[in-house]
Amino acid sequence: MIVVMQTHVGEEKINLVITKLKENGFQIHESRGVEKILIGAVGDKTHYLDLALEAMDGVEKVISILAPYKLASREFKQDNTIISVGDVKIGGDQIQIMAGPCAVESKEQLIEIAFRVKESGANILRGGAFKPRSSPYAFQGLEEKGLEYLAEAREKTGLKIITEVMDTRKVEMVAHYSDILQIGARNMQNFPLLKEVAKYNKPVLIKRGLNATFEEWIMAAEYIMVAGNHQVMLCERGIRTFETFTRNTLDISAVPVIKHLTHLPIIVDPSHSTGKWRYVQPMARAAVAAGADGLIIEVHSNPSEAICDGPQCITPDRFSATMIELKKIAEVMDRSI
Ligand code: PEP
Ligand code: MN
Repeated sequence: MIVVMQTHVGEEKINLVITKLKENGFQIHESRGVEKILIGAVGDKTHYLDLALEAMDGVEKVISILAPYKLASREFKQDNTIISVGDVKIGGDQIQIMAGPCAVESKEQLIEIAFRVKESGANILRGGAFKPRSSPYAFQGLEEKGLEYLAEAREKTGLKIITEVMDTRKVEMVAHYSDILQIGARNMQNFPLLKEVAKYNKPVLIKRGLNATFEEWIMAAEYIMVAGNHQVMLCERGIRTFETFTRNTLDISAVPVIKHLTHLPIIVDPSHSTGKWRYVQPMARAAVAAGADGLIIEVHSNPSEAICDGPQCITPDRFSATMIELKKIAEVMDRSI
């Protein structure tokens, strides 16, 4: 439930409400907006308690959140969540572009791409060091060496880095290097992994599972948030449909739906959702026009030689051309890139 406090209420009254909720076994998550102070309480709800709280001094009203997700819901927090990755803000007026290769292949490959995407206006470098491959015979990633190269690319370019973590036993290592922890589509409902990742208090990007509903996807965010880490962003990366021509089907409606249901930033991945480089640019345009807070795009200097996902990688030149277009669309949306 959410306890909405009266405007300009004193700390003393807020504390009395919190104490009452805690006595009844509720976990508290405060949300201090520009106008309102909301006390989110997660636990077993009793009708009696609603009434008792409503009678307390300083309480304006008590609202039950009907959706199964609480902390992620727009009811709990009206203002958009803005995640700070150093000086890079995700979820604010600036649309953040994350770009880089599917997999970190070598130091030279990564540094070259990093400089190229930075020069086109990206602020965040992507690159997998641990790769979730469908085939056990396929390249699995450079692992810690790959993380070291990412850190070196950050050092050299000033870009922030995002990389996937797949294994509970590797979270500490990945968190040591990366600015943002990426949960891949295949692990969206790996609950032990979500719980482990939540402990590190780092921004987390959760990709939508291949067959996940909006509710299931937001519940994955709720797992991280209930552990006390509210720096969560969601990433639409295409879902499985009957269509096989594209790798997945980009559900562009995810952008307004997530914005409506939650206060979390929504990122779009036009690369994995189409699987073909020629559709990446148009889908990137659509994502910005739909109101996405960011994009994550696969870029490779030589896609035909890429170890992983070459067919969907765009070249640095095409990335640069895409960025020029996206900046114009962002302007129409009263945003910047
Ligand atoms: C990736 O971004 O490298 C990736 C593997 O994506 P997804 O989890 O969306 O398939
Ligand atoms: Mn990929």
